[in-house]
This record gives sequence, structure tokens and C-alpha cells, in this order.
Amino acid sequence: MQIRHSKQLFSRAQQSIPGGVNSPVRAFKSVKMNPLFIKRALGSKIFDVDGNEYIDYVGSWGPMILGHARAEVVLKLEETIRNGTSFGAPTEGEIQLAEMVCEAVPSVEMLRLVNSGTEASMAALRLARSYTGREKIIKFEGCYHGSVDPLLVQTGSGAMTLGIPDSPGVPPSFVELTLQGKFNNLTSIIKLVEENPGEIAAVILEPVAGNMGLIPPEHGFLQGLRDLCDREGILLIFDEVMSGFRVEYGGAQEIFSIVPDMTIFGKVIGGGLPVGAYGGRQDIMLQVAPAGPVYQAGTLSGNPLAVAAGLATLGILNEENPYPELAQKTSWLSAEFKCAAESSGIPIQTQAIGGMFGFFFSAEPVLNYQQALKTDTEQFANFFRNMLKHGIYLAPSAFESLFVSTAHSEEDIERTAVAFKKALSGD
Ligand SMILES: *Cc1c(COP(=O)(O)O)cnc(C)c1O
Repeated sequence: MQIRHSKQLFSRAQQSIPGGVNSPVRAFKSVKMNPLFIKRALGSKIFDVDGNEYIDYVGSWGPMILGHARAEVVLKLEETIRNGTSFGAPTEGEIQLAEMVCEAVPSVEMLRLVNSGTEASMAALRLARSYTGREKIIKFEGCYHGSVDPLLVQTGSGAMTLGIPDSPGVPPSFVELTLQGKFNNLTSIIKLVEENPGEIAAVILEPVAGNMGLIPPEHGFLQGLRDLCDREGILLIFDEVMSGFRVEYGGAQEIFSIVPDMTIFGKVIGGGLPVGAYGGRQDIMLQVAPAGPVYQAGTLSGNPLAVAAGLATLGILNEENPYPELAQKTSWLSAEFKCAAESSGIPIQTQAIGGMFGFFFSAEPVLNYQQALKTDTEQFANFFRNMLKHGIYLAPSAFESLFVSTAHSEEDIERTAVAFKKALSGD
């Protein structure tokens, strides 16, 4: 595999961009490689600047559920761009996108668009604190909600991969109001609530954890949180930035039949352009300015191009309902992975849900952050490099989920299965 041009670009990038990348996990540090610079992508494939072709399971970290450069999305963007790229004034597309999300996710009665998942979770917390008149937040070890100061504690993937659970520059007083619960452990949350009576504004979590590897909720965990929040007047916030429109059209809350008070979106709803959103019950959302007193604003929020890509993407997902097919592909991949691991005598764990799948090099089941940390990351790094050599582009971290798109063909999956066997046997 020739990667000369990527290497040159990476050394150049490091002169003008910190670490050579605009988001940490792109740097391939944990797999002890230089990042590949990408030139273009189409369908299930990405192509680097040295002309190598890969089957892509990163999908821009989730948004590309229809594959790259899907014709209808490109066409809609082309049409939109000719009419100007930003007005700082309302457009009809924003209403359509809000209506589509509200229709798909019934717990969301109103929606505010922002520019990233990070921005959405920041705003959702502010709103939850104002609505409840309380200050403390419970988050879960290993759940990631963007690079938001008060949430940068034990955040999973990016920080986990680099071994910085807390970031310098976040004053201890900023995280004082953030309490840490254990995923899949209701008792840990009940205890936190009991220790802080009447003080918890919100419990925020990824209903399907995707940023410490893929860890689905155990039976009863989400319902237990819902009941606890109801009892204590706490708002339950689902961060569906990754799982929304990814595991099912109505998100993880549809699959597990849980109604959160607020939901955060991003990734798929922007179809590959920068979008985030937060929404929920009308009485809560009416507190947001200018309807209510809770300030939140954005010059480019609801940007016409981003909205166009989101509308085109959700429109196709709604019409084609690819979720059974995506689920079938991810369970096929995880079965192939399991089979390849067994024949090489390597203990692994795999999970698949809708268009997401994941695996750990571990003999023990992985149900939470502490268990994820104990898995074999060295073995993952070797496996990652072998897969790349065989033309398969995985996320460069043992603590990420992998994504399948409608563009992944049977042939792609068969080729991936062959690569699994070779890579796991050390080839
Ligand atoms: C990606 C992600 C975010 C952050 O979204 P950005 O658009 O990167 O700011 C928040 N929460 C979850 C669950 C995510 O996967």
C-alpha cells in the first residue's frame, strides 16, 4: 500500500493545524499510523490521495447512511446552492426539517436547529437547568456528548483513545455540577439521585452507547431511568446524535419504546453537512428564546445547504425504510467477524443494532466503560492496520462504532468477511 502523498500532506498539515487534523481521533494516533488524506468518496468507497480505494465503515462517523455522494442529495444541494448559501433569515426548508423530525420521533414536539451535536447538547443542558430550576446533571462514564466543558468528564472514544479523561482548560468548578453514573447500572444512578435530593436537573445519555465501542442498553435499564426521572422530576435527555435515524427511523427511543423529555440530534439529520438539533416536549421547548427566556442563537443555524442535505437524506430514509436491510447487513458482518475470530482462536465480543455494529477484543462481555477499558487495544491496532492493507477502512480506535450504509453491497460485505479472516490470522 502506497501512502506517500498522505504522509507528505500530514507533515505539512502539522505546521498549520494542531496535530495536523481538525478533530483528534482522525489522527490515527492510537493505531500508530499517519492518517490517510481523502480525495473523494462515492457510495460505499473512499479514495485517498495516493489512489488507494477502501470500503468505508466510518461514513464520516455516522452521517453517510445513504453512502457517499448519493445522487439525490447531490442534486438537491446543487439546486439549493444556486439560490444563495445563507440568509440569516428563516426559510421554508427549516420548517420541513423540523416537521420531519417531529413526525419521525413523536417525543419531539418542537425542534431547534444548530450546527453540531456539541452545540445541541450544550443548549439542551442550559434549557434543562432553566426548566427545572436545578443545577446538577448526571452523565454516564463513556458516553460522549460533544466537546462541551461541563460534559468533558469520562467521555469515551476521542478522549478515551488519547488517555485524557478530563481536559486541561476545563476548570474543576465547571464539572462540579456533573455527576458520573455507570452505564447499564441503574443502582449507580439511584444512589446519585438519593445523595443529591431535588438537585438533579437532567440525566443525559446515549440510549445506545456508541462512543466507548458499541454497547446497547441492557433490558430494563432505560425504562428504569425513565421511571426514576418521572418520580424525581428530572428531565431524561437522550443523545441520539449517533443513533437517531441510524438504528431505526425513530431512533433508539423507537426500538426500546422509551419517551425521553428531550432529544439531541446531529450526524444523519444533516446528511453529511454540519447540523445539530435539540427538541422535546413543547412546554420545555417554549422556554427557548425568542419564545421564552433561555438564550441560544447561531448565525448559520438552519443553514439552507445543511437543511437541504438533511431533507434529502431523511426523505429517502422515510420512503425506502432501509432499516431492516441495514440491520441484516450489520448482523451479517458481526456473524462473519465472530466466525473469523473463532477460527483464529481469538476471543471477541460483537454487537449490532440497526445500521451500527461494533466489536471488542475481549473474552468477557462488555456492558460499561470500565469493562471497555479492559479490552485489548493493542490487538485492535494490529487488526486495524491489517484491515486497511486489505482495503477496509475502519474507525481508527477500539472505542468507536462502525456504520453500514444503504450503498454497501453484498459483494462489499463478502470482501470484508474475507479481510476479517486474513486480518485476524495476522495476514
Ligand atoms: C458525534 C456525537 C456528538 C457530537 O456531535 P458533533 O457534531 O461532533 O459536535 C454528540 N453526541 C454523540 C452521541 C455523538 O456521537
